Amino acid sequence: MLNIIIFGPPGAGKGTQAEITAEKFKLFHLSSGEILRSAAKKPELEKEINSYLSSGRLVPDNLIIKMVNINIDKKIGQQGIIFDGYPRTIKQAKYLDATFEKKDVNKPIVLNLNLEEESAISRILSRGKNSERSDDNAKVIKERFKVYHKQTEPLLDYYREKGRLIDIDGEVDIEGVSKNIIVTLKELEKSL
Ligand code: ADP
Repeated sequence: MLNIIIFGPPGAGKGTQAEITAEKFKLFHLSSGEILRSAAKKPELEKEINSYLSSGRLVPDNLIIKMVNINIDKKIGQQGIIFDGYPRTIKQAKYLDATFEKKDVNKPIVLNLNLEEESAISRILSRGKNSERSDDNAKVIKERFKVYHKQTEPLLDYYREKGRLIDIDGEVDIEGVSKNIIVTLKELEKSL
């Protein structure tokens, strides 16, 4: 069973590619950003969650781990999962590995969308024009990149050392990236 993490900086196209890939390979698309944006619609959570989202900081590990785990528990071992935006810290990554170990299910492989920061920023800014997201503006984008470099990028070494990281060229257009992903996953499926 394919379990995948779609990884990359903000604006890399994780959400778009996760959606296309989920459809093609019948995977369950688990987007931590979507989980948070939808939880923020509940009055009792709105203020707390939005304070993180609109400033570009990460939601505390304990909170996001709990929310994501409810979704993992429903699917793990029954349907392949594609993680989008998760994990984003070493703590989340270790917790996720432990969850898969406990269930004796193959741990997820990471597809790292490689692209220049400049390309990622210009993508977010053009999305920002028609986006309802409070974090798609220049000031918050800067903070999201800072957080990415400090807290999320170290995961690349974590997964590379474990031999679970595959680089994907994220600089080409949407269709080009998804073609690369499909070829990679078909190969991967053969080896499972
Ligand atoms: P992007 O990857 O483009 O920044 P996301 O929708 O994945 O967009 O994330 C938006 C925001 O949601 C993040 O800036 C962060 O505040 C919060 N968030 C999403 N995933 C996580 C996570 N795994 N851990 C902590 N916070 C998260």
